[in-house]
Amino acid sequence: MVFNGLVVINPDKEQIEYYSEKIEQLNSYNAELISIKDTPAVTTDGKKIELIGNLDLVEETDFMIKYGAEGIGLIRTEQLFIESNGFPDENEQVKEYTAIADKLNPKNIVIRLFDIGGDKVLPVDVKEQNPFLGWRGIRFLLDNIQLLKTQLRSILIASQIGNISLLIPMVSSLTEVRKVKSLVEETKVELRKEKIPFDNNIKIGAMIEIPSAAVMAELFAKELDFLSIGTNDLIQFLLAVDRGNDIVSSLYQEFHPAVVKTLKYIISNSQSINNTKVSLCGEMAADIFATPLLIGLGLKSFSVSPSVIPYLKQIILNISFKKAEELADKCLQLKTEEEINRELKEFYNNNISVNITKIFEDKNEKYD
Ligand code: PEP
Ligand code: MG
Repeated sequence: MVFNGLVVINPDKEQIEYYSEKIEQLNSYNAELISIKDTPAVTTDGKKIELIGNLDLVEETDFMIKYGAEGIGLIRTEQLFIESNGFPDENEQVKEYTAIADKLNPKNIVIRLFDIGGDKVLPVDVKEQNPFLGWRGIRFLLDNIQLLKTQLRSILIASQIGNISLLIPMVSSLTEVRKVKSLVEETKVELRKEKIPFDNNIKIGAMIEIPSAAVMAELFAKELDFLSIGTNDLIQFLLAVDRGNDIVSSLYQEFHPAVVKTLKYIISNSQSINNTKVSLCGEMAADIFATPLLIGLGLKSFSVSPSVIPYLKQIILNISFKKAEELADKCLQLKTEEEINRELKEFYNNNISVNITKIFEDKNEKYD
């Protein structure tokens, strides 16, 4: 198997030798990574970075533990119940949330409200011209209050364990945040009446994945406990490039100067407000080329697919925060994504001795 996802059928002798050597390198590298599972991710000059996981399937809970996740930064609840017939009821939801929270306890887990619509199919038959700009995430939930209330109740009931936070998807205004917060309060009153225990101090955060929310990061930080940057959506909206459209996929550039500047803006305008926690849970957090840049931009928490955690940790253990900050300052001055890409590659070549990218590099020109 080639590292870019191609499968070689009937490989010749030379190809077998080339990839066998790659597999050996990767196996020995993976063994080395497992040995740092419980080592905290700290830069060479002492900056601690939090590494948490994204969870789509309940089975992945074990991988969080295996790969040393410090918690779960994103549970995509719409994925958890993808095989259910219709929306799961309160009992079903409480059971799933409690099982994950119990397994990770006392580490924190972040449960995101159903993020339906756009690339995630709607459970109702509506035709939309622009589904990505349509009835998605919190918009859909606020128009289906009963569904939202059932999920809020389920999350609150599971929260009695004490390690659950609640995350709102696809927020474009503070009005939406306030509506959800008030529904949470309303639900708490009901649960109190019914004498059902819950975590009264449950933390509430929002995804920053729509440009309007990015521009208002400071105001969001003032009304929420934490923010989670969703670069998958944020990049597509910022650059007006459909993230699933192959025709324009080359324009989907995570190192576009506008993306880098927006990330800097979000982080520096929100993290300083009441110590608001800011993490990044889009795919960009899992790109090892982006790691030094993101740390230099001030990001302290990465939420990624659990198997990526050891790779990020190895990079973090090998870079200095000071150099990462210099790199970010330089990138913030650059004018094109090509220049930023070049700068990041150069940083790797000059600063990172364990060069993971070498292992994944595919020099077998027959497949380039
Ligand atoms: C994102 O948009 O970056 C994100 C993490 O959410 P999702 O990929 O589920 O839309
Ligand atoms: Mg998203």
